[in-house]
Amino acid sequence: MGDSRYTPGNRAFLQAILARGTITFEEARPVLAEIFTADRGDDSEVRADQVTQEEFNDYIDVASEAASLFDYEIRSTVHQVTKQRIYALVNTTSDPQTQLATTYSPDELSFIKRVLDGMFEKYNSPRMEVLAIAEMQAIKLARPDRRQSQVDADAQTQTPGDKALKHSEVENVLASLVEGGWFEKSEEAYYSLSPRGLLELRPWLVETYNDPDADPSEWQRIKFCEACKDIVTIGLRCVEPNCNFRLHDICEDAFWRTRREKKCPKCSNAWSGEKYTGERAVTMTEAFQRGRRRGGGWQGSTLADEAIREEGGGEDAEEDADDPEENIYDDE
Ligand SMILES: [Zn+2]
Ligand SMILES: [Zn+2]
Repeated sequence: MGDSRYTPGNRAFLQAILARGTITFEEARPVLAEIFTADRGDDSEVRADQVTQEEFNDYIDVASEAASLFDYEIRSTVHQVTKQRIYALVNTTSDPQTQLATTYSPDELSFIKRVLDGMFEKYNSPRMEVLAIAEMQAIKLARPDRRQSQVDADAQTQTPGDKALKHSEVENVLASLVEGGWFEKSEEAYYSLSPRGLLELRPWLVETYNDPDADPSEWQRIKFCEACKDIVTIGLRCVEPNCNFRLHDICEDAFWRTRREKKCPKCSNAWSGEKYTGERAVTMTEAFQRGRRRGGGWQGSTLADEAIREEGGGEDAEEDADDPEENIYDDE
């Protein structure tokens, strides 16, 4: 396909991506079949299963070129669990806060930042890389950081974003982040960044949560798969808590296939394949499983917090443990 050809069909395809935010080959097939059928102009119909990967790639290329005129770019990533390749229209100039600012109020934005800090700081330590946040843990973040609020109160200023959200507002924001394709919610009611969220936020995450001056051997908050080089928020980790070696579950087999022994290439420890990055860092712990057997269900951030404490993970795990002010219902 000639690069300079931007047909009505190409435009329709770009609009379909715009409307969805993301698209997979499977989702694109019926869209392209419709476009191809219209292009034919006779009575014959192109079926979705007749659309080839090559045709899809061509349309993605042309769409990406057209989008670049508006500072957008089509980037792709592989879903860390389903292995599906996902294409997203990513804004290449503005940061995530600016993009989200068109949808959310300052108070909601500052809540979202606290949730991201929860995922990437509070619940992401060398002992326990959850990189996700349980619903009840997110609800606890409805109120801005107490110390910061105190500073603002002393200064007698009402800065935007320092107001606590109501329980229902928190639920609405979380639901809309899932709806908008930024977050995913797991069966255990953990929120994590979606493939699209990761595509959009990757540079910002590294800049915000990693230490650029750290020694390569030092543990970093944002890590990448040794096999595919993409970010890892759900995957497998080295047994050594401070080692940065990570693999996606879906990359593991191929990575070891070419190696004689399963030893961490960074620290030489034996690879267990049973140390997790992501919510399994909590849900696979003995404490969590025990709690679930007791019938805890998802209700538990209690469960999650208990598991984290037992493992000695989480930066403020102890501080949280006996803090009566953490009672989330004290304002309702
Ligand atoms: Zn990988
Ligand atoms: Zn290692």
